[in-house]
Order: sequence, then C-alpha cells, then structure tokens
Amino acid sequence: MYDKDNSARPKTSAKKIEGLCYEPWGLPTERVVRLNAKYAQKEAENSSCREIIRHIITPAELLHAGKPHSQRKSIHSACHTDIYKYSRAKMVSEQLAGRGITDPNVLHAMSVVPRHLFVSEALQSTAYDDRPLPIACGQTISQPYTVALMCQLLMAERGMKVLEIGTGSGYQTAVLREMGLKVFSVERIKELYANTKNLLNKKLGYFDLNLFLSDGTLGLEQFAPFDRIIVAAGGPNIPEALKSQMDEEGIMLIPVGREKMVQNLIRVFRHGTKYTEENHGPTTFVDLVGSQGW
Ligand code: SAH
Repeated sequence: MYDKDNSARPKTSAKKIEGLCYEPWGLPTERVVRLNAKYAQKEAENSSCREIIRHIITPAELLHAGKPHSQRKSIHSACHTDIYKYSRAKMVSEQLAGRGITDPNVLHAMSVVPRHLFVSEALQSTAYDDRPLPIACGQTISQPYTVALMCQLLMAERGMKVLEIGTGSGYQTAVLREMGLKVFSVERIKELYANTKNLLNKKLGYFDLNLFLSDGTLGLEQFAPFDRIIVAAGGPNIPEALKSQMDEEGIMLIPVGREKMVQNLIRVFRHGTKYTEENHGPTTFVDLVGSQGW
C-alpha cells in the first residue's frame, strides 16, 4: 500500500514523460537528455532480449512515449503553444498525402517536425505554405512536397545509415531522423553549420545527429558505406566520391543539371559494381559547390 499522499509511490519515468506532453518543442537539452536516459533504462528493464534498445529517442517520440496510438492525438493537442499544429496537419494532408506521398514514415515525420522553427521569425507564419523559403547565407529550405518526395524516393527503412549533403536549415535532417534513420549530415557554410547545430542539438533536443562542416561532394569517407545518400543541392555531375560511398545495395538521390538552378532529380541504384539511374523529372535546387560540384 502506498501512503495516502502518494509520497512513497515510486516515481516512474512514464509519469515524467507524461508531464512533458504539456511542454512543446524547445525543451532544454539537459532535460531531454535526462528523460531520454530514464526512458532508455526503463525500456532496457522491460526488454526480455539482450539486444537492448541503444537508440536514443527523438523529441517527437518523447512526446508520444508510452501512449497507445489512440491517445496520441490528445497528447499533440496538449501542446497548446504549438500554434502551427493545424497548419502542419493541413500541409501533410493537402500538399503531401493529397499529391501522392504514401510512405507512412515520411508522412509521420513531416507531421511532427516543427518546420516553422527552421526559418526566421519573420517567415514563421509562411513556413507551411506550398513553397521553398529563404534561409540564411542566400540558401533555401525546400518546398515541403520536394522534401517528402525525396524522402519517399529514398525507400529507407528504420535504422538505416543516411548521408545528407546540404544540412542548410536542418529541416530535412530532422525529418530523416524522425523517420528513424541514423543521420550523417554535411554543410559547407560555417555560419549555417553552427546555427543549425545549435538549433537541432540545443533547442530541439536532436542530440544524436552527426553534423559536419566540410565539402559534401567528397562525402564522409571515414563513415562510409551509407545505405542511403540524399543531396539537397544541384551539381553538374554525380560526384564519384558519393557513388563510391554508397552501400553495395545503396540508393542515392541527387539533383543533376548542366546549367545552374536547372536540374533533374536523379535516383541512383547500386548493385555491387553496377550503377543504374532513374530520372524523376525537373527540379530546382541551389548550387552544389565543391571539388566535385560547381
Ligand atoms: N535540406 C536543406 C536545404 C538546404 S539548401 C534544408 O532543409 O534546409 C542546400 C544546402 O546545401 C545549402 O545550405 C548549401 O550551403 C549546401 N551545400 C552546397 N554545396 C555543398 C557542399 N559541397 N557540401 C555541403 N553542403 C553544401
């Protein structure tokens, strides 16, 4: 029996996680770390197999932790300060599902990542519009549909290792993480790299991402091979370095065009030593600048 005032009742991490539901995005990092550690420990205790969950849960998973699917909506609506949740849901149903995005993992990820936090305050009210938006350093965050299409064409499974070239605002990075992927992301502009790292790690609590400041046309040799590679900027050719860093059964998505800002979205499949390409139509991305780019 517990004391009347419940003071002797063991405090479970589930209870704490429930408390968290009333807090929206922007949790202090150390709080997320603490909650993550507790959650992982609880999962480990409950797990009968020795393959204990080593994965660190994402902020969105934390919001839903331990809740059956039927209650998830109410948890979301408890985030009363997320004033964009309806715009986000509308974006997902009209711009994505309504136009042929069917991968539930992609739809889920894009329904939980707070896109408005990846653009400047002045642009937040337009963050869920059907268009790309400017970010710092003359770069852009892609239109929601383009992000969704690329993520769907990746045909990724949870747990896969993905290399993203062009971290930019970090929006797509967060989407890939919410899809359950192990993300390695490279940005070449120092200011973007630093600001985005701060946003993803400190403000949003995505602290298990691998972010790098370097020339992404060279890939990340030391972490290769990658199951999937996604390039968010367009170059004149497909960089040989990236091809060689694909897993033997890997897939890469990359905009390629001989003229700047005019590209086709190419999907590359690798089967051992053989590479095949598929054209997914015209697209427009900022320049892929680097030793194997422009
Ligand atoms: N996916 C990003 C889109 C960013 S725009 C988002 O969701 O916001 C493309 C980004 O690619 C820019 O930030 C640009 O600086 C970066 N980029 C261009 N060439 C690059 C290279 N060689 N290596 C790494 N990043 C590169």
